[in-house]
Amino acid sequence: MANEIKIGITGAAGRMGRMLINAVLATDGCQLAGATEAPGTNAIGMDVGLLTSGLKDIGVHVIDNSKNLFAISDVVIDFTSPKVTEMHASLAGEHKTALIIGTTGLEVQHQDALERAGEKTAIVQAANFSVGVNLLLGLAEQAAKVLPESYDIEISDMHHRHKVDAPSGTALALGHAAAKGRGVNLTDVMVTARDGIVGPRRSGDIGMAVFRGGDVVGDHTVMFAANGERVELTHKAGSREIFAAGALRAAMWSNNKKPGIYSMRDVLGF
Ligand code: NAD
Repeated sequence: MANEIKIGITGAAGRMGRMLINAVLATDGCQLAGATEAPGTNAIGMDVGLLTSGLKDIGVHVIDNSKNLFAISDVVIDFTSPKVTEMHASLAGEHKTALIIGTTGLEVQHQDALERAGEKTAIVQAANFSVGVNLLLGLAEQAAKVLPESYDIEISDMHHRHKVDAPSGTALALGHAAAKGRGVNLTDVMVTARDGIVGPRRSGDIGMAVFRGGDVVGDHTVMFAANGERVELTHKAGSREIFAAGALRAAMWSNNKKPGIYSMRDVLGF
């Protein structure tokens, strides 16, 4: 329909890409504008309905031309890889297409490209699009504000065996939230490796432990450990659908928003 939001999906054959396509097809008020995959991959030319459910042909075919996707979409949702996301950010700026970024593991040069695009169009970036994790971010910040430095903060991150970046973007976001609550910078207090005779724990550090294995979608705990008590805030993701639902909610919210870089907390209004 004419007033439906046109949503483009990149990385259509990926774990998240497939979920996102299904979420768009199942949601009122939006339509699938198109979908891309990496040039030369098997999915190019396939019908997205067949690609994601294997059941019905919906008449939208996977393309490898990202420029065309940005030209025909109101909003593009991107869960790919940092270099690809950097390229998509500049296309979003060029076409004034809103962009929802789920890709994690971004380094300074990728993030700089996002900041430049954010001057021209609305970008929502979240290391984790689940509503529950975004609540956890708020709780971690609050707990770190209330509990003194004698409560040691440790964060654990468990994901499936295919994940390539560590600590996870969510673990880092939780670290930033806890550091913010304490009024410090995460980069000054983060400890990601302990191996050998490392000496006693330095007061005020925020430690991170990473586990990888099996098909775990994503488990995160923020622990505040003091003498005599321990507070643990935990979120467990059981399905990638929660990320797709959150990203789609962000996509609907971003339509016609002013240029800028927004967070999932902006989308949820807290
Ligand atoms: P995946 O490897 O299954 O999917 C990525 C897809 O992108 C692949 O199919 C790949 O072929 C495709 N791709 C590569 N180059 C491309 C190009 N030039 N144009 C279009 N597509 C291209 O990975 P995944 O598990 O779906 O995760 C993707 C990213 O999303 C990772 O960074 C992951 O950490 C992140 N992620 C974020 C959240 C969140 O809530 N923010 C949740 C889950 C995953």
